Order: sequence, then C-alpha cells, then structure tokens
Amino acid sequence: MEQAREIASSGPLAAVLAGEWSPGGAVRSRKGLRQAVRDTLESLYHPVSSCRMGTDDEAVVDPQLRVRGVDGLRVADASVMPTLVRGNTNAPTMMVAERAADLITGRTVDPALTGTA
Ligand SMILES: Cc1cc2nc3c(=O)[nH]c(=O)nc-3n(C[C@H](O)[C@H](O)[C@H](O)COP(=O)(O)OP(=O)(O)OC[C@H]3O[C@@H](n4cnc5c(N)ncnc54)[C@H](O)[C@@H]3O)c2cc1C
Repeated sequence: MEQAREIASSGPLAAVLAGEWSPGGAVRSRKGLRQAVRDTLESLYHPVSSCRMGTDDEAVVDPQLRVRGVDGLRVADASVMPTLVRGNTNAPTMMVAERAADLITGRTVDPALTGTA
C-alpha cells in the first residue's frame, strides 16, 4: 500500500489521479493500514492449483489429468492448473474439461497427431 501510494503520487500518474479512494489519505500509520487491509481484504474468487498438474513428484495429476497413483481417476477442474492464469479462470476451466473429454473418449484435435501441423 505504501508503494502503491508512492507510485500514484509520482510521475505521470499523479497528474491524472484525483485522490485516494481506499483506505483514504487520512490513514497513514502502519497500524491503520494493516487494519484497513484486515477490514477489506478479499480473494479474487480464482483459487487454483490444489491438484496441480505436472510431471514432477509433487504433482497430483499427470498431463493427461490422471491422478498419480490411483487408477481410473482424473481431475478436470481449476485445481489442476499448475499456476494461476493471468486472466479469469472460468474459460480455461472449461477448456480443461473439454480436454478431459477428449482424453477420456480418445478424440484428438492435436494437429501434430492428426498430421495437419
Ligand atoms: C463470486 C465468483 C465470481 C467469479 N467470477 C468469474 C468471472 O467473472 N469470470 C471467470 O472466468 N471466472 C470467475 N470465477 C471463477 C470461476 O467461477 C471458477 O474458476 C470456476 O468455476 C472453477 O471451476 P471448478 O470446476 O474448478 O470449480 P466449481 O465451479 O466450484 O465446481 C466444483 C463443483 O464440485 C461440486 N462439488 C464439490 N464437492 C463435491 C463433492 N464432494 N461431491 C460432488 N460434487 C462436489 C460443487 O458443488 C461444484 O459444482 C468466479 C468465482 C466466484 C466464486
């Protein structure tokens, strides 16, 4: 918050910003800033990676979404994303689901595998 204030009050940004909206310029102390964070902090509703996909020993699912060490079980949701995507998570989650359907049914649209690459 202190760095954000520093950035906002210097350079070209300072010329276009009207004033601090939250927590408001009157809150200056670290204690006050901490309290403001505690009072207003929330997640961005994009939890991911609790069943991270990967090829290393710590990965929960492999690149085919199969749970490592368990036969016949795949995970196809946002939890398999190795890291948080830069944008929103709903569309990539649906793509993971589409990919899972392809993997389960054996359908492929991979150009490298269909010979169209
Ligand atoms: C308030 C909010 C706003 C969001 N806004 C956006 C947005 O604008 N754009 C965007 O791209 N993303 C948005 N997201 C994120 C997006 O909704 C999620 O990333 C996405 O839905 C994750 O999909 P998922 O399948 O991993 O989990 P979920 O959609 O949570 O699906 C999990 C499903 O599993 C079911 N389930 C859980 N436990 C069990 C069980 N034991 N047995 C059976 N079923 C079970 C649940 O009922 C649920 O239906 C938002 C999320 C929230 C919370």
